[in-house]
Amino acid sequence: MKPTFLAKALNNPFEDPCLYVRLLREKRAILFDMGKLDHIAASEANKVTEAFVTHTHIDHFIGFDHLLRNILGRREPLRIFGPDEIIGCIQGKLSGYVWNLIGQYPLRIEAYGVSQAGMRHVSFHAKRRFEPSEAEILPVAGGVVFSDGHITVKAALLEHDITCLGFSMEEDYHINIDKPALEKMGLEVGPWLGEFKKALRAGASEDTMFEGFRLGELKDKISMITRGQKIAYIMDSSPTEKNIEKISELANGAGSMYCEAYFLNREAGRASERSHLTARIIGTIAKDAGVGELVIMHCSPRYSENVREVYDEAAQYFGGRVSLARG
Ligand SMILES: [Zn+2]
Ligand SMILES: [Zn+2]
Repeated sequence: MKPTFLAKALNNPFEDPCLYVRLLREKRAILFDMGKLDHIAASEANKVTEAFVTHTHIDHFIGFDHLLRNILGRREPLRIFGPDEIIGCIQGKLSGYVWNLIGQYPLRIEAYGVSQAGMRHVSFHAKRRFEPSEAEILPVAGGVVFSDGHITVKAALLEHDITCLGFSMEEDYHINIDKPALEKMGLEVGPWLGEFKKALRAGASEDTMFEGFRLGELKDKISMITRGQKIAYIMDSSPTEKNIEKISELANGAGSMYCEAYFLNREAGRASERSHLTARIIGTIAKDAGVGELVIMHCSPRYSENVREVYDEAAQYFGGRVSLARG
């Protein structure tokens, strides 16, 4: 199966977390958290169209300025999703600079603050020197905060003393092309397949023609629909039953879970006090949720010399493939 997206942690578990998800057939990318981003290439930054921020503690949001610096001249808006207070945090960051020279710039930052009440949306336009627009409240059904008809991102409100969002990102379904069947029909692989898949997803008429064949016929002969890719992204969360239940739901069936394992189980008391998960808890959740692989992205600096122990504990309770983000 050709993947639809490829996720890569930009930093190691002792640096500020950030996950870069490249959508392979589109010229765009999605970020989870905006930790350390000073090393991102301008071309990579420019592909980012959506950013999902778990919470605005400095280690998860410090990269905002670097991203903004790279995309200032861009036409495509940047959508940022986070807990409700993210709107005030974005406004605060934007008002930390003087914007008299950007009146001609087309950039818009669309900010979405998620709470129990729904999603508050505020726009910041460069041409208005990033003054905030009036807020509108959007409904949130089934935890879905973003969907482009292909990729769906769900958020759960987790407890981390403050609200911290946990995310899942899922491809609605995956269209596989049966290459031997393609050859049998005398057809060749080419850009038309992308257009064909797009038409299938859009529910185009069965009579739409591709390479001299009807879409209806091609659908039956060369395409197979399978379950789409799914990842979960879980950062700072208290080790409470309610959180564990919500995280398990987000992680259910995910191919990869990118997460914190901030403390070892022997420091479970400290984990509760500091509102973080342990390697044991995250390993257990991943196992119960049928996750494919676990990628540890965020650990307490106290383990910088013995991170292997964090890895081992997660692996012991998960029983599947575990890796440490390499950055
Ligand atoms: Zn953190
Ligand atoms: Zn935090």
